[in-house]
Parts: sequence; C-alpha cells; structure tokens
Amino acid sequence: MMKKIGLVYGGKSAEHEVSLSTAMAVIKAVDFASYEVYPIYITLDGEWRTGPQLTAPVESVEQLQLIREESKPNTINEFIEAHNTIQFDAVFPLLHGTNGEDGTVQGLFEVLDIPYVGNGVLSSSAGMDKVIMKQLFEIAGLQQVPYVYFIRSEWKNTQQAIVEKCEQLEFPLFVKPANLGSSVGISKVTNREQLIDAVELALQYDRKVVVEQGIIAREIETAVLGNDVPQVSVAGEIKPMTEFYDYDSKYKDGSTSLVIPAELSSKVAQQLTDMAKRAFKILDCAGLVRADFFVTAKDEVLINEVNTMPGFTPVSMYPLLWKNTDVSYPELIDRLIQLAVERYEEKG
Ligand code: ADP
Ligand code: MG
Ligand code: MG
Repeated sequence: MMKKIGLVYGGKSAEHEVSLSTAMAVIKAVDFASYEVYPIYITLDGEWRTGPQLTAPVESVEQLQLIREESKPNTINEFIEAHNTIQFDAVFPLLHGTNGEDGTVQGLFEVLDIPYVGNGVLSSSAGMDKVIMKQLFEIAGLQQVPYVYFIRSEWKNTQQAIVEKCEQLEFPLFVKPANLGSSVGISKVTNREQLIDAVELALQYDRKVVVEQGIIAREIETAVLGNDVPQVSVAGEIKPMTEFYDYDSKYKDGSTSLVIPAELSSKVAQQLTDMAKRAFKILDCAGLVRADFFVTAKDEVLINEVNTMPGFTPVSMYPLLWKNTDVSYPELIDRLIQLAVERYEEKG
C-alpha cells in the first residue's frame, strides 16, 4: 500500500526560506509511486496551509506557497481535520529553528498521535538550547570549548561581573543566542567593547546568551542515522572562506567548500564516530542528527553542537555525508520515514 506522508515546510522562523528549498528538493526526489504526498505549508505568520495531494514534483517555490491562496483562521484545526480524513502514515517536518526544530511542532504531532520523522520533543528542545546541550555533553564526558552563559536579567543587573567572567576566557570569543541556528545573531569578538555590543545583539534574539572561547580548528561534521542503534557516516570538513561559517556562507553565496570524506587519521575518525554516538544517546535522539566538531592541529576533538534537523537539500552536508556512505538522497528519505514508523510502533 502507498504510504501517506505529509511534508511540513516553511515555518515561523528565520530559516523559512531554507525550509522551502529543502521541500523543493525532497518533493523532487520522493518516489511518487510509493508515497501519497501532501504539502503542509506553514507561512511566516504561522498559518498552516494543508494542500491537496501532490502527484508530481512542483516547478517553483511559489507553487509550494500557493497550495491554498486565501487566508483562514484556525488553520491548525484544518490540518487536524485533514489528518482525520487522510490518516498520515508519517509527517516529515522539514523545518529548522524556532517552532520547527525545537520540539514545539513535535509536541503537536505527539498530541495528535501522528508518527513523524526525526527527533522527539526532548531531543529537539535540548538540541535547540546550546546551554542545555553543552551541559548534557558535559555529563556524557564529551570535550568542548570553555564557555560562560547568562540570561537577560543577569546581564542587566550584573554586566560588569559577567564581562569579567567572559574575559577569563581567551579572546577571540564567540557570542551566541542560546536558542537559534544558522549562525543567526552570532558574533566573533576580539575585545571588551565588541563583546558588549555582541551580547546586546544576541539578547535581541534570545533571553539566554552563551559566550565561548574561540578555537582555531578544522570544522568536521558527521551524520547520524537510526533510532536505538544509530549508524554514523563518514566525516566531512567545512572550509569556510569567510571569517567563520556564517549565515551567508551557509545559504547564500556558496563561499564554503565541503570536503567529503575529510582527511583524518583513522584514530580521529573513530573518535568522531564514538563521540557522535554518545551525543546522540545523551540527548535521546531519534532518526537523524548532524554532529559538528572542532578538530585541532594536535588532533584534539571537541564537540561543537548537534543539529536535530540539519540542512537537508541534496547539496547540504547531511545528505552528502550519507551519499558518500552509500545511502542516496531518495533512499535517505525512505529510511527516515521508515524510522519514524518504527519509533511510533515501538512506543506502543
Ligand atoms: P549554529 O547553531 O548557528 O550553526 P554554531 O555554534 O555552530 O552555531 O556557530 C556557527 C559557526 O561559528 C561555526 O560553524 C564556526 O564556524 C563558528 N564558531 C562557533 N563557535 C566557535 C568557537 N568557539 N570557536 C571557533 N569558531 C566558532
Ligand atoms: Mg546549530
Ligand atoms: Mg553550527
């Protein structure tokens, strides 16, 4: 029987556009002979537009956004009604960032009892909060860069003390909102004045901020796929041409090259695999995760972060890592849907 899948894309997030490109790519790759595909577009305003079944790839992003033109209230109800009629076998949240990758939308699917691809509520929200994630990594004994964190009210009341604490780390520092991705709101700073400005900027995005010691290292990533017994792909290296791997180099100007497989000793490669599995386990991940590392010239391996819904276009690191580990893009989509169904059944 054909599986009925809902592709959820767009979203009320800074990564709306990225999500649309992902949806285009997935729709292009998905096997219409095996799946009934339903588009579920979340507008920037947070309106859910659940479209009629797609029977062929779409030509343009506009088509993906115009699955229903008129705007209506209570659009989540409409999605629920659509599910009652269609009975999705799984939905695939192709969403990044706030409201998509952070456990909120996953919570909705849980409440509605719909199987969904990827990480559950806990791993999604823990992975979205860089501070909670670091604290869990610490428990798992994973090495990482030294950091300081604080919330907005602490900054207001004790700025001087916080600045001094940050200055105990070595400049350059990286200042980040705790709860975003795609490098949004992140700054690299080399002195106190820049630090203060960067914190003010980060606080515009989130009430929690993390300040990390900058590290000179290669950026190496691995892809994890599975549920209870996950597999880890070969490693890939990101070579940013800009100061750091910022939003534009990730999505816009293509000023980054990916080297897959990364040139690494077998010892480091083994360590990456082991650390990726431990990160996956401590966050209680499911389906997929991209684990991002720093590898120093002395072959020290530090974990930077995991991304619970990594970039997923065919030219994104996660699918490319699997392609180099003999899992093609269409096959990867199949595996993820299968894992979603298995996880749902396992829950009982
Ligand atoms: P995001 O979740 O937005 O991807 P990251 O924490 O991965 O945020 O930071 C984005 C980029 O900034 C990294 O890919 C890396 O290029 C650079 N970067 C972040 N933290 C550090 C650090 N402590 N030292 C050196 N570079 C860093
Ligand atoms: Mg991230
Ligand atoms: Mg990152």
